[in-house]
Amino acid sequence: MSDISAFLIFGPPGSGKGTVGAKLATTTGIKHLSTGDIFRGLSPASENGKLFASYAGAGKLVPDEVTVKIFSRFVGGLIDTNKFAPEKDSFLLDGIPRTVAQAELIKSVVNIKHIFVLDIPDYSIIVERLLKRAKIEGRKDDADETVIRARLKEYEDKTAAVLGAYNESLITKINGAQDPDTVLRDSLTAYIKAK
Ligand code: AMP
Repeated sequence: MSDISAFLIFGPPGSGKGTVGAKLATTTGIKHLSTGDIFRGLSPASENGKLFASYAGAGKLVPDEVTVKIFSRFVGGLIDTNKFAPEKDSFLLDGIPRTVAQAELIKSVVNIKHIFVLDIPDYSIIVERLLKRAKIEGRKDDADETVIRARLKEYEDKTAAVLGAYNESLITKINGAQDPDTVLRDSLTAYIKAK
């Protein structure tokens, strides 16, 4: 078990993990770390960058071993360059673990203290949000409804089960369909209770 503390913001694509995660991190000082952002930051010419593009372009998850390797290397880099101090800082993970195997593999990297689940059972809200985000952020995997549906299927088939790998007492559900300020307020309340 690692001694690096981490909170986890969890939910389907388009549930607001990135937006709420960034605000929660700014308000509390915990370090927001999104694997989607890490992957999008890879050089498109690199082997891992090409691998990411081939999976993300089809709405698929990158394989577990390589995902966890890239993630742990990134975390190691933050520690080595004094951007994260394990004795005082905590991460807010966004986008990992996304499979039960990843939940097992990252145990040696981070110790999950609490999980905030952004719950949106109505997928039509998600599709609408992602198509809108595609126009603002120019993300290709948000622009194509077929890719969005494939990502939601990956979430249902592989990611939703991740919650079962953690004790129920570590999990707080938040209604992610509310307006962003209310979602942030509920997340902050849950963070303060869990801290
Ligand atoms: P996100 O920005 O979290 O929606 O991630 C965008 C894409 O990056 C996903 O559709 C996956 O292809 C890939 N990705 C991000 N995090 C992971 C992960 N933990 N495991 C596998 N693939 C991931």
